[in-house]
Amino acid sequence: MLKKFLKEVIVIVVGKPAEDISDLLYTKKHVNEFLIAKKLDITINQTRNILYKISDHGLVSSIRKKDKKKGWYTYFWRIEVLKSLEFLENVLIKRKNQINNQINNRETREFYFCKSCNIEFNQENALLNNFTCNECGGIFDLRDNTKLLKELKKNSTKIGNELNLIEEEIKKEKIRLEKERQREIVKVKKKAAEARKAREVERKKALRKVPKKLVKKKTAKTKKRTKKKIKKKSVEKKFKKIVKESGKKSVKKR
Ligand SMILES: [Zn+2]
Repeated sequence: MLKKFLKEVIVIVVGKPAEDISDLLYTKKHVNEFLIAKKLDITINQTRNILYKISDHGLVSSIRKKDKKKGWYTYFWRIEVLKSLEFLENVLIKRKNQINNQINNRETREFYFCKSCNIEFNQENALLNNFTCNECGGIFDLRDNTKLLKELKKNSTKIGNELNLIEEEIKKEKIRLEKERQREIVKVKKKAAEARKAREVERKKALRKVPKKLVKKKTAKTKKRTKKKIKKKSVEKKFKKIVKESGKKSVKKR
């Protein structure tokens, strides 16, 4: 039923030829516009024109992603179910009101018509024309509205039934959206709690690193290392001295 309503919305906004786009747009995740074009077997520009028209009514949402290689943006689209249903609801309410006005008109007023020219007049205009047709000079007949009224009432009831069903779908969608919102809140809270926990662990770790024992040990180690370095240096010096002296000796020998 929902899909049928969404299709009806698309037909109202962009016309019958584009109706198949509604099934493609009715998804959880936004759909790549190039994929839509491919599936509808139309060009990307035609696809975008349709999407922009629907977007003008706020009935679709889009996200864009940049193509890293080519540098351009690709758009991804999705139909907004609740907005679409409310849009359809408004259109049908207006339509129903118009029909009800017509019914009221036909029930309370008289209408006259010329059989041969098929022109209709309300009572005031018929009177002004002296119940005679300007075009052919024929005498007006009183319109029998029974058939028309039956048709109008049938239409009004049909729209009323559809409105009830749309109301049901709107309720369902609102519940779904509320559940989704709650899930999102739980997710965000969980993430925040996790982040807090991670920060706490980091903080404890940082505290554990500083204890005095460790600091002392470190200093002792560093001292040892410095001693070693000094020792090494002095050994090197002694070695060089020896080499120098031996060199001198060998020169002396020559
Ligand atoms: Zn006439």
